[in-house]
Amino acid sequence: MPAKHDINKIGVESSDFPILCETCLGPNPYVRMSKQEFGNECKICNRPFTVFRWNPGAGARYKKTEVCNTCAKIKGVCQTCLLDLEYGLPVQVRDAALGRKAQAPTSDINKQYYIQNLEAQMADSPDGQTFDSEVANRAGREMLKGLARSDPFYKRNRPHICSFFVKGDCKRGGECPFRHEIPKEGELSKQNMVDRYYGKNDPVAKKMLRESAESKGMKAPDDKSITTLLFLGLPQTTESEVRAALVAYCPFVKPIEIKSITIVEASHCAFINFKLRSLAERVAEALSAQGGIEVGGKKAKVVWGRSRPQKGKPATTAITDSSEASGSGTVAITSESA
Ligand SMILES: [Zn+2]
Ligand SMILES: [Zn+2]
Ligand SMILES: [Zn+2]
Repeated sequence: MPAKHDINKIGVESSDFPILCETCLGPNPYVRMSKQEFGNECKICNRPFTVFRWNPGAGARYKKTEVCNTCAKIKGVCQTCLLDLEYGLPVQVRDAALGRKAQAPTSDINKQYYIQNLEAQMADSPDGQTFDSEVANRAGREMLKGLARSDPFYKRNRPHICSFFVKGDCKRGGECPFRHEIPKEGELSKQNMVDRYYGKNDPVAKKMLRESAESKGMKAPDDKSITTLLFLGLPQTTESEVRAALVAYCPFVKPIEIKSITIVEASHCAFINFKLRSLAERVAEALSAQGGIEVGGKKAKVVWGRSRPQKGKPATTAITDSSEASGSGTVAITSESA
């Protein structure tokens, strides 16, 4: 099978050193590593790869590389923790802030094709990177810098929690190499490597994006029936222009199902009513991460709509905005929701 042979050939890594973030590497730059060729299957592309194993410092657990060099390079992530190398953030957060598309292969055959394709692209590009062909988004980068830790976070290298202790019967006591702590329950403990790699369904990323949006005054309204976002300060525009801008800014949200777009020309705003609340939330987070949305060459401000249900009448969506864009301090715009 020549194809198989080729795949394995690409899988052989010539690198003598893994791609690691500062945290995973640990404070000692001269750390001793054991190296095992074809030591394991890459968790992403399933090809055999060179596994490195090392102790990142006193009191830390041993760490090893989980994905191959190529897969790490493709996404610009650490081979062990899969966090972005530049910001130390989840791929999903980085991609939302930079408006990067999360392309994930759907089957095993697709997976191999996907990786090989990107490998070829990397070989063609001078700096060995496949992304950042998109215009660097300044607001997105600012956001990432704000979220990034400035120092390595060595606490992450601590031993795992002792499962026996959790069950209440660890007999090793002080000798136990694992942490004797009760783990924090919740969705954050259920992380999936493949999803984290491709930047989707990552609970940690979701939480970070939500909190970041909230810190910028984009807290999703408690009323879950609200599925409308408003774009403020628009130039003269069309519905298709608004749709195109949404697709460009949120390429990782697919499909963007919209119930209606209402453009109110006199107020330079548009009401975008999404089919699902969850979709409106994802778009709101992504747009807040990117500092708004550019429509027709102008950056518009994005805010949540507010519903004011009235007796006997269909619900209306209203917005009160106190930004300088409105001039008068406060504007109330009302539109019939479809
Ligand atoms: Zn791989
Ligand atoms: Zn790492
Ligand atoms: Zn224990």
